Amino acid sequence: MIKERPEARGSAFGERHFLNPFHNTIGKVDFMAEIIATEGLTKRFGPLTAVNKMDLKIEKGRVSGIIGPNGSGKTTLFNLLSGYFPPSEGRIFYEGHDITRLSPQERVKRGISRSFQLVSIFPRLKVYENLVLSVLRFKENNKGGARFYFCKVADNKELLDDCMQYLEMVGLQNKANTLGGELSYGDQRLLEIAISLSLKPKILLLDEPFSGLGDLEISFMMELLHKVKKDFTIVIIEHKISKIEDFCEQLFVMSQGSLICQGEPCKVLTNVEVRRCYWGEVG
Ligand code: ADP
Ligand code: MG
Repeated sequence: MIKERPEARGSAFGERHFLNPFHNTIGKVDFMAEIIATEGLTKRFGPLTAVNKMDLKIEKGRVSGIIGPNGSGKTTLFNLLSGYFPPSEGRIFYEGHDITRLSPQERVKRGISRSFQLVSIFPRLKVYENLVLSVLRFKENNKGGARFYFCKVADNKELLDDCMQYLEMVGLQNKANTLGGELSYGDQRLLEIAISLSLKPKILLLDEPFSGLGDLEISFMMELLHKVKKDFTIVIIEHKISKIEDFCEQLFVMSQGSLICQGEPCKVLTNVEVRRCYWGEVG
């Protein structure tokens, strides 16, 4: 059933985004180095500023972590990057293009894929159907609803094989026919990752992928992320720094909607302001 590994194909996995010919500079944004850059990105909810004038640069091909106390604006930042909320101010660039006004679907098509802080799968659909639906929903301009999708998919062996490949990648191939809602919480998280990967993204935005998982499940998830990290740019939000400090090449620290520090994990984690805001250290 599994025909080939994704890295063997001429897909986004193989071509890599390093080959992009962008070499412009608008303001502070250097498109050679960055896959995503924001300028003055701001999101207000009434009187609350959840994300405040953020200038963020995510480097291509690297694993970046976003940390910060609860309520510091991490998830809102992902909602802005993935198009779920429009910003109140500021701009978002992806591979040199201003994507500030693009819909979430358009962003997925261009290679931005995200997972959610709370598990978001279709519990009444089978595991493989979850994948099929996501692939069709985001990759094609179908507007006919789920029934239409599945009529179309019935004979589409290539699509089914493709989806099975991603289930195998996350170790869920034997649960393809299980209902999503019957999977353990950890397996639901893995299904979410499979869905994200099946969209063949260039950048993966993972919002607390370890939340609610036990130690063994975290190790498995970590192993999986290590396996795929060479193929993508990864940005991972995590509340507990210890889980990602070895995995990430770069850390961004948010506090009250602002970016207060960024750099290599060892430097960031010894930064006085970070320690004060994160662990309440004085002095
Ligand atoms: P984090 O992910 O760092 O815990 P969030 O981005 O979820 O933080 O939230 C940042 C702030 O924005 C919080 O005060 C939260 O209550 C608020 N917030 C987030 N989403 C909404 C929303 N849809 N409407 C109103 N306030 C929101
Ligand atoms: Mg959050």
